[in-house]
Amino acid sequence: MEHSGATATAVLPANPLADAHAQLAEAVGHLGLSEGTRRMLATSRREMMVSIPLRRDDGSTAVYTGYRVQHSLTRGPAKGGLRYAPSVDLDEVRALAMWMTWKCALVDVPYGGAKGGVAIDPRDHSHAELERVTRRYTTEILPIIGPEVDIPAPDIGTDESTMAWIMDTYSVAKGHTVPGVVTGKPISLGGSLGRALATSRGVAHIALMAMASRGMRPEHATAAVQGFGKVGRGAARLLAEAGVKIRAVSDIDGAIYMHEGLDIARLGEHVDRSGSVMGFDGAEAIDPGYLLTLDVDVLVPAAVEGVLTEANADRVQASIVVEGANGPTTKAADRILRERDVLVVPDILANAGGVVVSYFEWVQANQAYQWSERDVNDRLEERMTRAWHDVVDYAGAHRLTYRQAATALAVQRVTEAHRLRGLYP
Ligand code: GLU
Repeated sequence: MEHSGATATAVLPANPLADAHAQLAEAVGHLGLSEGTRRMLATSRREMMVSIPLRRDDGSTAVYTGYRVQHSLTRGPAKGGLRYAPSVDLDEVRALAMWMTWKCALVDVPYGGAKGGVAIDPRDHSHAELERVTRRYTTEILPIIGPEVDIPAPDIGTDESTMAWIMDTYSVAKGHTVPGVVTGKPISLGGSLGRALATSRGVAHIALMAMASRGMRPEHATAAVQGFGKVGRGAARLLAEAGVKIRAVSDIDGAIYMHEGLDIARLGEHVDRSGSVMGFDGAEAIDPGYLLTLDVDVLVPAAVEGVLTEANADRVQASIVVEGANGPTTKAADRILRERDVLVVPDILANAGGVVVSYFEWVQANQAYQWSERDVNDRLEERMTRAWHDVVDYAGAHRLTYRQAATALAVQRVTEAHRLRGLYP
């Protein structure tokens, strides 16, 4: 792409799909794969775009656009979350679907990768409106989902209620209950014990291993966590329980700071009461952007993509970045952090705990048998530890960053599955 002088010096907007393609091209180059293979892996297998008319509570009609992208079906059914956010577009969903393929391959669960999204702000809609949107979206994408085809799960803006509505809509259409069509369901509908905290647990586990690899003791370490939702909240809690001082957290309303460390359990109660981290007793409100460049040992961006850019990467003071969100570091920022010897643990490794326990939930649905929470957590830890060592060993052997190593390992596994299956016809 050509840039004019003016745009070349300005900070470019985050473009997750371009970054995902660049990461893939690098892995293909490293593995010595062909241009045809790169092109195949750069292209989604299936993309569905649907319009979702909604009868609003006031009687008016609104129309939203929804997507489901299946990037790969090579290693098994497609798998990935469903996002409700106003900024959702096809390219973002494509990038997130590709990252799901690599994530599933890296932690070795028998899935391809997918992602869904609806361009809607859930905060502007009632529970009943969100139910109607979800049911209509599910009906539209029904032909391409199913427990053996593509299995949605929660992501930004969706939760276990969303999954219950998808499961119900799908089951009504089939004429019988199909619990394996989604993961992240309520426990009473066949959800897995340990799923709600699984992504956070994986992030915390990986962060502690990363800290140990740099000779850092948790009780002497400090951290900042961006995002206090499905990923950040639990990660902050588990890291605090391990002894790490959480100096700052943020959510959509702003960021708070406490030099001696926030009491995360009390902060959780405050958020449950007030709906936001803001106004927490004794904490100082800070600029949310400033949180990313605070003087802490570990930074956990656990909100959205594209937050670490060439505009702030040179001011990041943390020596370890653990990507709780998908794609929080742009390609340009990644290069700057590498040059500054900041250890970046990539999303497809750091936040893979969610999809690992989604896999366990799907297996339990197929078995019609519930595992104990201890079983789930032990197996999760085992998978995360194995993936961590796979990445660290591969990076060491090939002199790659952890992101390059994780992507190369994943691409190699997908390519190998494809080679064994052969190209049809
Ligand atoms: N949305 C989560 C992710 O990005 C979970 C996906 C899943 O469990 O299928 O990894």
